[in-house]
Amino acid sequence: MSGSDTSQLAYQRVLLKVSGNSFCRPGESGISMSEVAELSEQIKRVHETGVELAIVCGGGNILRGKQFAAVSAAINPPTAHYMGMLATVINGLALQDALENIGVPTRLLSAIRMEGVAETFIRRRCVRHLEKGRVVILAAGTGSPFVTTDTAAALRAREIKADIVMKGTRVDGVYSEDPEINPHAVLYPEVTFEEVLSKELGVMDAQAIHHCMEAKIPILVFNYQRVGNIERAISGEPIGTRVVSAKSQ
Ligand code: UDP
Repeated sequence: MSGSDTSQLAYQRVLLKVSGNSFCRPGESGISMSEVAELSEQIKRVHETGVELAIVCGGGNILRGKQFAAVSAAINPPTAHYMGMLATVINGLALQDALENIGVPTRLLSAIRMEGVAETFIRRRCVRHLEKGRVVILAAGTGSPFVTTDTAAALRAREIKADIVMKGTRVDGVYSEDPEINPHAVLYPEVTFEEVLSKELGVMDAQAIHHCMEAKIPILVFNYQRVGNIERAISGEPIGTRVVSAKSQ
């Protein structure tokens, strides 16, 4: 452990899903290190609370396999998905350096073997790093094509027995309708996994929801772009929308 008193924390072990669009300026693509540095400052403050933090990086700022294959006839869909997974490694490397620059100990673990760039993901090693107080950055998704890093986040959360999956988005949580289209859309403070699936609320992809539902791992959807929100979410403040099992309501 990192030495802090963690008994007062709302969660001991958190899986944070950071989408690729947190790595670039709004509306742009690629990597902006000033955006990554801002994100890292928030992560540093979270790390200082003593919570064990594993971060799954998305890659959509660089390439999403499904979209790329749809517009590029010369590429096989699985190849496009592997390109997407490599994009998450690029983001992972950027996040690792940004965190280490401000004194946060990290380990980058890749689901695709990549000696010289990152450690290979091994569940027990990942847990050990967390216990030693290192921020673990999980890259290359699940290592298999045709899924997204949402599924990787849910899967890894199950494997490492995380208390919660936190998904940072550009909106404040789950709404009755798309708030960027209808400003009168209502924010739900809590919804069930079943509602997310039946109403197709688009919190995460269905495979990710199924993993969390089966393992009874709640998901918090919140706006990571408001400064301090990652810390608020980690400390258990009622922000965003919690996705929970029907029984616990
Ligand atoms: N990807 C994949 N397998 C995985 C995780 C990701 O094939 O286990 C590919 C997929 O093509 C995906 C891309 O990597 O579109 C980038 O991840 P994602 O779209 O989830 O990134 P985000 O939307 O979170 O930025």
